[in-house]
Amino acid sequence: MASAVPQIQLPPLKDSAPYVAAVDIGGTFIKVGLVNREAQVVSRLEVSSEAERGFAHFVKRIGDAIEMAVQELGLTFDDVAGIGVGYPGTVRAKTGLVSGSPNIPGANGSNFTQPLIDRFQQAVIVGNDASVAALGECRYGVGKQYGADDLVLFTLGTGVGGGIVIDGQLVVGAHSQGAELGHTVIDPNGPQCGCGNFGCVEAFCGTAGILRAAWRRLQAGRESLLWNYIREFQRDELTPKMISQAAAQGDEVAIEIWGEIGFYLGLAAVSAVNLVDPEVIVFSGQIAKAGDHLFGSIKRTVRARCRLNPWPVENIVPGSLGDDSGIIGAAALVLSRLS
Ligand SMILES: [Zn+2]
Repeated sequence: MASAVPQIQLPPLKDSAPYVAAVDIGGTFIKVGLVNREAQVVSRLEVSSEAERGFAHFVKRIGDAIEMAVQELGLTFDDVAGIGVGYPGTVRAKTGLVSGSPNIPGANGSNFTQPLIDRFQQAVIVGNDASVAALGECRYGVGKQYGADDLVLFTLGTGVGGGIVIDGQLVVGAHSQGAELGHTVIDPNGPQCGCGNFGCVEAFCGTAGILRAAWRRLQAGRESLLWNYIREFQRDELTPKMISQAAAQGDEVAIEIWGEIGFYLGLAAVSAVNLVDPEVIVFSGQIAKAGDHLFGSIKRTVRARCRLNPWPVENIVPGSLGDDSGIIGAAALVLSRLS
């Protein structure tokens, strides 16, 4: 359909250049890595995003960080095949316009991609951070271990992100705003989600939902090791990590909490199985470090509720790229297009 918004003209990728510049944007930081053609990270740098100083400043800061990374290695942009970016929100591929980006002030409606193309005269390929992580895990992490071209990934943190890779390619849809698996509704009468809807996976399994599950039990007067953390710190400093630590020590309440969260994530995984039947389902991010108490519950739920066809629950696994998943995923956006 014709659009009044100018379309991005992407400069060609430099097919023979040895490196890709990869950018991983978080709420408060910008990480830039130079990645070789084998998807190995050869250099990393991290700067604060200073997003509060406005969107134009934020984009300039990303450009400065890319330039710094290239210069630090004694390279020029002739050595860079293209720039890949994992963005915490939606950036439309056709126009470069940002939407669904609550964490970066002034971002919605602004153009993210065009200023970077103008500055570097390089191809700039942008994806949602969770989609990018899915592509990275598929091509260079878990997917490689399993020989899998079809993979679904959930990122667990403050929110719940999602990514779908089919036949080795990302599925992001007509408006670049898929695959928001964290906003799959699993309870129409559930609590309100940050997105405005009710009963999304994220409303139960984002950090706030997990802490709510914990408080419900503590306020009911249950005995738990978690009380020790609360006496030691402020009540509002209870974190998912503490719940994991308590669960690792056999705390019944903490184990129950991961059981409940795993049940909800399992429902989300059942939907993913019914939707695209992936070979592997990956859960990554801080909260995925909760380990077997969480994964056991996810697998039990999928085993019990995938009724039409059985699905191999042993293929539900944590991510394998760790802290580099954002950088390697962003690089994968470019590497997957190089010949
Ligand atoms: Zn939602």
